Amino acid sequence: MLTTGEARDAILAAMPDFPATTTTLGESSGRILREVIRAERDQPPFDRVMMDGIALHYADFAGGRRDFPVQAMQAAGDTALALKPGQCIEIMTGAAMPQNADCVIPVERVAIADGIASIEDGYDAKSGQFVHPRASDHEAGARLLTPGKRISPLDVAIIASSGMTEVEVSRVPAIRVISTGNELVPAGEPIEPHQIRLSNGPAIQAMLGERGYTDCDHDHLADDLDELRERIADHLDHADVLILSGGVSMGKADFVPTVLAELGVDVVFHKVSQRPGKPMWFGVGPDRQVVFALPGNPVSALVCCRHYVIPALDAASAAAPRPPEFAALAGDIRFEPDLTCFQPVRLVSNSAGQVLAMPVKTNTSGDFAALSVTDGYVELDKEKNHFPAGTAVFLHRWQAS
Ligand code: AMP
Ligand code: MG
Repeated sequence: MLTTGEARDAILAAMPDFPATTTTLGESSGRILREVIRAERDQPPFDRVMMDGIALHYADFAGGRRDFPVQAMQAAGDTALALKPGQCIEIMTGAAMPQNADCVIPVERVAIADGIASIEDGYDAKSGQFVHPRASDHEAGARLLTPGKRISPLDVAIIASSGMTEVEVSRVPAIRVISTGNELVPAGEPIEPHQIRLSNGPAIQAMLGERGYTDCDHDHLADDLDELRERIADHLDHADVLILSGGVSMGKADFVPTVLAELGVDVVFHKVSQRPGKPMWFGVGPDRQVVFALPGNPVSALVCCRHYVIPALDAASAAAPRPPEFAALAGDIRFEPDLTCFQPVRLVSNSAGQVLAMPVKTNTSGDFAALSVTDGYVELDKEKNHFPAGTAVFLHRWQAS
């Protein structure tokens, strides 16, 4: 049986490279950037006024002048005027500094009457004050964003300020999420006492959607060999990635591995030394489709999706790898089986600024309701069975960051 690390490596080795494509600025948030974004112009592109007020020549102020005839008014977006000696120009935040001016006096310090701006008694100005000098943030051509970054709303501002209406990103793969099980009934349909609500499919779609994997249809299949054969064959024809849940254990109706083999999907591994999620199956289809078959138990399915599927999709999308995250255990944990334990946790911080992981007990691997108060799970090494409070362990968060 593979260890969790071996399973991850085997998946990454089998993943294709999703090609680059072009998207619009408005659609770019959440996608993986595939090009360098450089500054179109100096930032700011001109000496930018930072306050509403008057602009003047500092030497006039230093020479003792406090009353300045108002030569003109210049708003943001106006061409910079040329300031005459001994005078001032009324200016607005965001305006280009008038030529010859080198000092801004805020409007609160100035009284204007009969075309004369008088500066408050005792006000001390400095040369260059309230001016954001041209190129002081960065120069034209500066590298602002690097390929591999997931585009955030803040990055959208950078791309827009670079004057780009389109940007190169990784193509979103076509994903099919397939829930198997006769007992499953989707929300909105009448349900009998012996049946189970189908929850993995929508949860997996949501987890993927949050990370920009939005081309993600869902299908529900019965534990029936013919139906599984026919529908999975169709999904293999139309998708880059299949994510199945259920039907991979040792039960009489667990047909998924058999059907996948019949359809030419080569098994890379079946079973990983972990809890939850031990029966997980992974393979590669005839056209290099990747097939994740996750156990049906909701906690197992969600942990396996977060731990294996998401990092694999990110790697195939050329996302820059993220540094591992650690947390200190808030309490002792004992875990006897010779398996890696994925323990759901809630995060709290202490007054020393440490992030602590509080284990949250799930009743069974089907107890998904308990997960709602958790922020993620910690990964507890297979080689040990006692983890004292304070031990630093790998933390994996549910939410995209
Ligand atoms: P299986 O892996 O098919 O043996 O399923 C294990 C358990 O998870 C069973 O109790 C199933 O009813 C439950 N289960 C399987 N798939 C889902 C699903 N999509 N949503 C909710 N529960 C599921
Ligand atoms: Mg089942």
